[in-house]
Amino acid sequence: MGTKGTSPRTLSEAIQYFADPDKCLQYVVERRWPNGVSCPTCGSKDIRFISTRRIWECKRKHTRKQFSVKVGTILEDSPLGLDKWLPAVWMLANRKNGVSSYEIHRALGITQKTAWFMLHRIRLALKSGSGGVEVDKSFIGGKARNMHMSKRSKSITGPGGKDKTAAIGKGPLAPQRASVPQYH
Ligand SMILES: [Zn+2]
Repeated sequence: MGTKGTSPRTLSEAIQYFADPDKCLQYVVERRWPNGVSCPTCGSKDIRFISTRRIWECKRKHTRKQFSVKVGTILEDSPLGLDKWLPAVWMLANRKNGVSSYEIHRALGITQKTAWFMLHRIRLALKSGSGGVEVDKSFIGGKARNMHMSKRSKSITGPGGKDKTAAIGKGPLAPQRASVPQYH
């Protein structure tokens, strides 16, 4: 994927950036599958992308052959789109003094209750992550513990951990660590 390093610097840029479903998809794919997309059910990389629906289909024979970028993440059962989740994560990662649900409510045009729920979920994901990793990666990979053991060790410790960090280091959420103030 070619536009690594194209990253929003301000909140309005982030909202505009993540309003594009293809950019959202690319953003999550780069963080979730830095070594290429693989099936969340069987781990196979023998998959095909159905671009009209922005989902993949695994070519192996099992149930749940089709998967979106949200499957297997904490976003899986959320009716909210990536166009809301990603700017919220961006805000959390880029605001040194933390973000309140009221700010997210105002910035994204969602109810304060929904914003509160999102913040809660993002913080839970960060807590259950492996710690010491970037906010966005921790968030997107928040269900790493439920993955295949081989995948799991890979996603938590490497291999190529340094390379991955370097790649993510160019991303918009890169400089921030997972220290999230607990107020709302
Ligand atoms: Zn599969």
